[in-house]
Amino acid sequence: MINNVKKIEFNNKTKATQSILRGIPSSPGLVHGKAVVLEPESIILPDEKIETKNIHEELDRLETAIRDLIQEFVHALSKVKDDAKNVASVLESDLMILTDETFLKKIRNKIEECFSAENAIVQEFDHQIHFLLKSNDHILRERANELDHIKERLISVLRNRCIFYGSGKNSIVIAQSLTPTDIVNFKEAGALGFITEVGGITSHSSILARSYEIPEVIGIKEATSIIKDNDKIILDGYTGSITVNPTKKSVSAYVAKKQKEQEHKKQLGELAKLKAVTTDGKQIRLMANINVSEDIETALIYGAEGVGLVRSEQLIISKNSIPSEEEQFNWFKSLADSIFPEFVTIRAFDIGSDKYSEGMPKHEQNPALGFRGIRFLLHRVDIFKEQIRAILRVSKNKNIRLMLPLITCYNEIEKTKKIIEECKKELSKENIPFDNNLPLGIMIETPAAAILSEKIAPFIDFFSIGTNDLTQYTLAVDRTNEYVSSIYDSFHPTVLSLIKLTSDAANKHNIPVSVCGELAGHAAATSLLIGLGITELSVSPSMLLELKKRVRETSYQDSKKLADEILKIANCEDVRQKLSFTNE
Ligand code: PEP
Ligand code: MG
Repeated sequence: MINNVKKIEFNNKTKATQSILRGIPSSPGLVHGKAVVLEPESIILPDEKIETKNIHEELDRLETAIRDLIQEFVHALSKVKDDAKNVASVLESDLMILTDETFLKKIRNKIEECFSAENAIVQEFDHQIHFLLKSNDHILRERANELDHIKERLISVLRNRCIFYGSGKNSIVIAQSLTPTDIVNFKEAGALGFITEVGGITSHSSILARSYEIPEVIGIKEATSIIKDNDKIILDGYTGSITVNPTKKSVSAYVAKKQKEQEHKKQLGELAKLKAVTTDGKQIRLMANINVSEDIETALIYGAEGVGLVRSEQLIISKNSIPSEEEQFNWFKSLADSIFPEFVTIRAFDIGSDKYSEGMPKHEQNPALGFRGIRFLLHRVDIFKEQIRAILRVSKNKNIRLMLPLITCYNEIEKTKKIIEECKKELSKENIPFDNNLPLGIMIETPAAAILSEKIAPFIDFFSIGTNDLTQYTLAVDRTNEYVSSIYDSFHPTVLSLIKLTSDAANKHNIPVSVCGELAGHAAATSLLIGLGITELSVSPSMLLELKKRVRETSYQDSKKLADEILKIANCEDVRQKLSFTNE
C-alpha cells in the first residue's frame, strides 16, 4: 500500500500515450505502479536441437533457474504467518514439484539428448500435464493447471524475464486469469493490485483479493496484449477504471483521489467502535465472512459483530485432502477464541466434484447442480461426523453456530439433526464438553430453500441468504462463466422476491436472517436489503466500515418504502435506475 502519495513520480520520458480501460471493480482501493504482464499464450518452442557442445551450458541454465525459483518459493513460504497453514500448504505443494529429483532427472536427460533447457522443460511438463488431464480425477486435473503454471514460471525465470511471483513486488499484475494460489503468492510477494481479462466478482480469487485488501479490476478484455511490462498503471478498484501510462493531469487527479481515500479511511477507522444503526434507530448486525485465517484479524480491527460465514471447505481446497477432526478443531478454535464472546458461524464443507474427488462421482456434467454441499455430506457421513464433532468440541463456550450449505429439502435438515445427536452422544461418552443447544442454521442459496423457508423456519435457528448461488440457481446463470456474466444479476427482481420471501418467513418465526453473499457488501444494496427486512449482513472484513457508514446514513422507514417500490418492478434496468447505479 502507498502511504505517502506525495512521493509519486511517473516517468513520462518514454512519451507513451495514455489509454483508459474499463472493467468490473472486484476489490476496492486505489493504487499505482508498474505493470507486470503474465503472458497468457502457452509457450511455443522450436523443435530443433542444440549442439552437443552446448549441453553443459543448458544444464547450468536449468539448475540456475530451478534454484532461483525454489528460493522464490521458500521466501514466500517464510512470509506466511504460522497460523495461515492453509496458505502454506499450497506453497509447499508447489515446492515439492521443483524438488522432485525423479522429475528433474527426466528434464536433465532430455537436455542430454540435445534439447534446449526450455524444450526439455516443456516436453517433460507437458507429458505430465497430458497424463493428468486425461484423468477422471478432478483433483489430478486441477494439479495439471498447477503444473502448467509452474512450467511457465520456470521458463520465465530461465529466460530472465522475471515473470514469477517475486516480480509482483510493488507492481500491478496483469493476467488473463488468476487462481487463488496466484493471489496468495502475489500477495506474499507484495503485489499492489490485480487486473484480469476474465473472472467474476463472486469467484474465489476475487473474494481472496478482497480478503487481502488488494485492489482488483476484472473483465478488461485483451489486457495482457494492450498493457506492456513496465507500463505505468493507475488502478481504481472503486470504479473499475485503469489508466495506462497516465498523463501528468491524470497523475494529479490520482494524487488528489488517493489523499481523499486516506482521509476517508481515517474517518472510517473512527467508525469501528460505533454501532451499525440507521438514522431512525434500527440496529443492524454487521459480521465478517472468513475465507483465510488472516481475515479474523481484519474483522476484529473493523469491529465485526461476529462471523457470519466461515467457508470451511477452504481447508480442503488448500490441503487437497479432508482435514482431520483435530485440524478442523484447531482452526475453528482459533477463530472462536479470537472473536469471543461474539459468535462464529461455521458452514459445513460446501464441496463438489469440481473441487474434490475422493468418494465423488467420476464425472459430472454440471458439478454446480450435482453432488455437492449437503448432498455430499449426507453421503459421506464419516466426513460429516468428523466435522460436526470438531464444531461441537469448539462450541463449549457457546459462541459457535453450524450452517448447512445447498439445502433444497426438509429431510436434509432432519438427517443432519440425527447425525448431530449421534455426535453429541459420542462426545458425552468421551466426557468432552459441548454446547447442547448449538444453533443450527441453513444457507438459503437455492430457489427451493427460499420457497420452503416459511415451512422450514420452525425447525432451525437462523437463515443466511447466499446471494451468489441464489442468483446462479434462480437465473440459471453459471456464476463462474464470463460469457454469461452480463446476465448474472443479484438485483434481478426474482432474486429480490426470494430474499423478501425468506426474510418474511424468518421475521414471522422470529429467527435471525442474514445475507452473506456478495450482494451484502454492494453499495447500492444496503438500503434495499434493510428495507426487505434483513437485520444481519456478513461481508468480506475489508468492506465492514464502508458498509457501517452506509447503514448509519440510511433511514429504515425510507428503506421500507424503497423496497416496496422495487418489489413492484419487473425489469432489471428499472431496478438499477431506481437504485441510481448502472455498473456491475
Ligand atoms: C453464496 O452462495 O452466496 C455464498 C455466500 O457462498 P459461496 O460464495 O461460498 O458459494
Ligand atoms: Mg454458495
